[in-house]
Amino acid sequence: MSASYGYAAVSPKAPLAPYRFDRREPGAHDVQIDILYCGVCHSDLHTARNEWGNTIYPTVPGHEIVGRVSKVGSQVQQFKLGQLVGVGCMVDSCQTCASCAEGLEQYCENGFVGTYNGPEKQTGGITYGGYANNIVVHEKFVLRISDKLDPAAAAPLLCAGITTYSPLRHWKVGKGHKVGIVGLGGLGHMGVKLAHAMGAYVVLFTTSPGKVADALKLGADEVVISKDEAQMAQHANSFDFILNTVAAPHNLDAFLSLLKRDGTMTLVGAPDTPHPSPTVFNLILQRRKLAGSLIGGIKETQEMLDFCAEHGITSDIELIKIDEINQAYERMLKSDVKYRFVIDMSSLPA
Ligand SMILES: [Zn+2]
Ligand SMILES: [Zn+2]
Repeated sequence: MSASYGYAAVSPKAPLAPYRFDRREPGAHDVQIDILYCGVCHSDLHTARNEWGNTIYPTVPGHEIVGRVSKVGSQVQQFKLGQLVGVGCMVDSCQTCASCAEGLEQYCENGFVGTYNGPEKQTGGITYGGYANNIVVHEKFVLRISDKLDPAAAAPLLCAGITTYSPLRHWKVGKGHKVGIVGLGGLGHMGVKLAHAMGAYVVLFTTSPGKVADALKLGADEVVISKDEAQMAQHANSFDFILNTVAAPHNLDAFLSLLKRDGTMTLVGAPDTPHPSPTVFNLILQRRKLAGSLIGGIKETQEMLDFCAEHGITSDIELIKIDEINQAYERMLKSDVKYRFVIDMSSLPA
């Protein structure tokens, strides 16, 4: 075992605080990564505070990890010391089920192993995430990151980036498509950048008039204030695809009615309490579809990182020190962040 250190929550009410723990020594197929930056995802907060009821304490959150390879196992071929790499939401999966065989580890039928709060097969313990000085991960779950990208701003690509990229690709968004992105937060701002880079005509939906200028700057062709019924009505039956990133329960019909015949709205925000059920007629009459999507597989995550390197896409971030994390959680709850906090891990006390 090797001694690691980071920040952990020890109970639902405790603020995150310095914590020492052990990582496994890299096995033959493992890569050890010295972490440079870790993005702050809403899932981190949900887990730290046990809001999903499944947290095993102490918990070290963080699954938007960028760092450099500091050790490799004897069988590792693809990675070399000093290489810039990333780790996202998964560090393992069964590798035998139909989903894993198709490279869709996020839908592993035996459950993928989360980067934190997951069952670590190699040790029988629990996985600890990226609010730490280092991490040890099986090479299959390590991603290559181009040196062309700013490593701090690239960190959120590992969750927010792939969560929005995967559905845009699955529903074949591209030139000639009119695409809606609902919500301009950590996920939504990535959705706007990616859909724009894929060549779509992008319309951003927001409830905040204060976000219009930002959305246009990020790549939206048009912004619609979703509370304004007249503005919404102008877009009825016109969208090929809508990516809905909003995690608060809201009226889905307002957006479903904007889809063309055979159009799809995909939900990637997970509300604590359900959305009101949409009107079934809204689906039936134009054969519209309502769908969901979870992050992306490892192969697709690599494709997304390469796409971002080619198009110069990263997240808009606010870099923080690790001792600012509890304050950052409070600000995140108020949506007071443009558009992702990223922890500079050089601020971690040894
Ligand atoms: Zn996440
Ligand atoms: Zn599997």
